[in-house]
Amino acid sequence: MSGMNKQGRPTSIAGASSVAHETFTGNRALHLEEALLFELDNPGACGVDLDEPAPFTARLGNFERQGRIGLPSVSEPEIVRHYVRLSAKNYSIDAGLYPLGSCTMKHNPRLNEKMARLPGIGDLHPLQPVKTVQGALELMDTLAHWLKELTGMPGVALSPKAGAHGELCGMMAIRAALIARGEDEARSRVLVPESAHGTNPATAALLGYKVDAIPATKEGRVDLEAFKAKLGSDVAAIMLTNPNTCGLFERDIIDIADAVHEAGAYFYCDGANFNAIVGRVRPGDLGVDAMHINLHKTFSTPHGGGGPGAGPVVFSQALAPFAPRPYVVHGPDGFRLVETAEDAKADGTTPFGRMTAFHGQMGMFVRALAYMMSHGSDGLRQVAEDAVLNANYVLASLKDDLSAPFEGPCMHEALFDDHFLKGTGVETLDFAKAMIDEGYHPMTMYFPLVVHGALLIEPTETESKQAVDLFIATLKDLARAAKSNDKERFTGAPYLSPRRRLDETAAARSPVLRWVPPAPKQAAE
Ligand SMILES: *Cc1c(COP(=O)(O)O)cnc(C)c1O
Repeated sequence: MSGMNKQGRPTSIAGASSVAHETFTGNRALHLEEALLFELDNPGACGVDLDEPAPFTARLGNFERQGRIGLPSVSEPEIVRHYVRLSAKNYSIDAGLYPLGSCTMKHNPRLNEKMARLPGIGDLHPLQPVKTVQGALELMDTLAHWLKELTGMPGVALSPKAGAHGELCGMMAIRAALIARGEDEARSRVLVPESAHGTNPATAALLGYKVDAIPATKEGRVDLEAFKAKLGSDVAAIMLTNPNTCGLFERDIIDIADAVHEAGAYFYCDGANFNAIVGRVRPGDLGVDAMHINLHKTFSTPHGGGGPGAGPVVFSQALAPFAPRPYVVHGPDGFRLVETAEDAKADGTTPFGRMTAFHGQMGMFVRALAYMMSHGSDGLRQVAEDAVLNANYVLASLKDDLSAPFEGPCMHEALFDDHFLKGTGVETLDFAKAMIDEGYHPMTMYFPLVVHGALLIEPTETESKQAVDLFIATLKDLARAAKSNDKERFTGAPYLSPRRRLDETAAARSPVLRWVPPAPKQAAE
């Protein structure tokens, strides 16, 4: 063993086998094992120093708590270390390349964060009197303006809190429009391509629609003839992603939109991949009636851990009047929110209802607008161009080592299948786990469903050429290893992470959500 890694840096790790022993502490170098906070409980320890309460007479009688409250006692340094260690276990876009396809894990500019924390923005409250939040409402109105401008659509709802929530919002507006036309009962089917993200059929099904799958062509796009054959007077809408989840532009999109409208149905576009075309294509020009925009994908707001997000929905002229309350209007008295049905009536709209208690996620609005303004129109166009360039660089560099199911260039993400692993005994999952040993978060696996053992890579525009080159070289090395019978490197991977393979199915089906204190030790007789 040479003591040099493939990047030419000295290393003492000669291979997985030399570090296989268990350490006394369970720690692996500076990756520290972390107990649950409840296990750290150190009765009597406290992070604050409070005065003893003045003598008082208890009036609760026998209702007074006798035992401990059940919260862990820890000192300030213990609590700080606990959360710092946990945070260091989190892989994030700030730690390294995050190639998840369809998710658009791009850098979150720090300028956005600075703007979101400005006094007067960071400490706003949704119940403040309207005259004290004129600037915030103007900011929402400006964001709404640019979302409409960039998509070529006349209406927008800012309140939905994620892409999936936006889909629900868009489909509810479609249902409201059908109710207004007296056609809601008659139109019970929603067409969804096979390659769609799971949230599309889930949304349609949640609203009680029958989901009808449209097959894909060998090229990975919607089969236009099969699609037209499925249209009919019982179809409410099509839900189509463009560019689609194979990373391909649906070239027939205008024909699809025309056919949908001719059949009296609406065109919902899943706009999760808008980052590939922002500044270059306006979905409104393609005939889209409603589309959500994931601000955390296209406009660089943090994805969060399921925390507050924003998935605004843009609407065509036909659907705009049904967009949910509240929305911002600008009148002679300044900005205000149209909150109630009566308010909306006076404004000439017929919202289907509301999606959220308040107006949506202000912090995300500020970040997205900061991103738009700091990029400008030329910068936003370059975002799309560079995202597509980086993905094509990955596709072209890897298509002979991995296997690409579709001919030709891609949009913002490169799709591979598991053909290259045939006969190696290595599967997509093993390949992804071996990437973890190399210090990479795996790409999206087994999605979209239209190709076998899919590996979907979205490098995004914020990765440098050096970073993408090292990623490509790593995948080439892994592909070579898989093909040269180095099966163990994959089927046992990850070798170097604090935990190896977990039973993910059991974790999802029967999660342990409650900590139970260990039984007290019996005192010796
Ligand atoms: C991310 C994504 C969604 C869902 O968006 P969330 O913001 O995660 O709810 C829907 N469709 C596609 C194609 C996506 O990539």
